[in-house]
Amino acid sequence: MRPRIAVIGSGPAGLACARVLHRHGHPVTVLERDPARDARPAGGTLDLHEGMGQLALEKAGVLAEFQALSRPEGQAMRILDTDGTVLRDWQPRPDDRANPEIDRGQLRDLLLGPLHVQWGRGVTEVVPESREGVLVRFADGRQETFDLVIGADGAWSRVRPAVSSATPQYTGVTLVETSLDDVDTRHPDLARLVGDGSVAVYGVNRALVAQRNSGGHVKVYAQFRVDLDRHTDPDRHMGPDQRTGLDLPDVEAVRSRLLALFDGWAAPVLDLLRHGTAFVHRPLYALPVPHTWTHVPGVTLLGDAAHLMPPLGVGANLAMLEGAELAESIAAAPGPGDLDEAVRAFETQMWARAGRWASITTAGLERLVSPDPSEALALFDEVQPS
Ligand SMILES: Cc1cc2nc3c(=O)[nH]c(=O)nc-3n(C[C@H](O)[C@H](O)[C@H](O)COP(=O)(O)OP(=O)(O)OC[C@H]3O[C@@H](n4cnc5c(N)ncnc54)[C@H](O)[C@@H]3O)c2cc1C
Repeated sequence: MRPRIAVIGSGPAGLACARVLHRHGHPVTVLERDPARDARPAGGTLDLHEGMGQLALEKAGVLAEFQALSRPEGQAMRILDTDGTVLRDWQPRPDDRANPEIDRGQLRDLLLGPLHVQWGRGVTEVVPESREGVLVRFADGRQETFDLVIGADGAWSRVRPAVSSATPQYTGVTLVETSLDDVDTRHPDLARLVGDGSVAVYGVNRALVAQRNSGGHVKVYAQFRVDLDRHTDPDRHMGPDQRTGLDLPDVEAVRSRLLALFDGWAAPVLDLLRHGTAFVHRPLYALPVPHTWTHVPGVTLLGDAAHLMPPLGVGANLAMLEGAELAESIAAAPGPGDLDEAVRAFETQMWARAGRWASITTAGLERLVSPDPSEALALFDEVQPS
């Protein structure tokens, strides 16, 4: 009898895990809260690192397809001073495949491939010890049991309480995201400003980052330090605390508040906000560092559910690598009696690596959105190849 395995969530972690299990011929049930594949916008672009996200894709057998779809030129990175002066301009070599970019929607479709996801199956609770196995309760009142439940359900995981009482805490930094479409035809100056990859501008306790996605789409992230209660005061037009992406309805009020926040910055940089079409509020939360738990047989976590950290380019990479590694460990377990030992060993490895990255990204966020903008530049000089 093969163990009954459920993956909760079809983000990068869950899909990488399910796809590698599928590749090894292991049955897996993928349960996703979203009602359909395209129920909401997939989000911005991701850079997948050679030894992390790309390794996971190799384990899933889809690396060649990724290489055909991804954008190596998207590794370009330009840093401007707030007056528009170019401080750094890194261009990738033509053969550089270290961190190519891919749209999240393209990555999701690539990983989905032959997988059969059960959409509209929002999990409300996981109870580790029932007579039949691990009990999973759903929002529609149904329940099912499994031998192993893998919580890949992101920052506000409903699986996590089965193993840990930790909850994400606000980092002190908020993002407000906006987007521009058809930049090459509608905003050619901004297209040149962003280039093939990203442009970032760092000021005192605030930053503006714009990233090119495929098809002439650009995502812009206004980042700033703010107390969440002040920031979410409805009188200040930022809407109530919804903790995750929240559409901000009063577009013009948000735009003028952001323009005031970045007042004095170069006009072409502010144009990124002036031409943004809609605004989404993303206060940044993180789990304690390190986040570990006493092993609970039959339940484990992956990705943001296990180690939500500031978004400095590793979250999805780690999530995918963990998903692929856990799947390989499960597939290599000689019999059902060895499954728990495989999960235990995986958790120990995940905690050590994720703890290191969580420390790095937490320190990185302090330097990127800091009272001293030269810290952001220094950080890039440390990590970018010269
Ligand atoms: C602005 C921004 C930019 C980022 N850029 C990068 C980057 O360039 N590179 C990088 O590596 N990382 C980046 N990250 C981080 C990255 O997005 C996350 O680390 C990554 O998405 C985590 O993957 P995951 O599968 O663990 O969780 P998620 O991507 O959050 O997926 C979780 C899935 O579970 C589903 N779900 C949630 N609750 C339930 C439930 N109760 N029942 C069933 N299903 C449920 C969700 O609908 C979702 O499909 C960025 C993050 C942000 C906010």
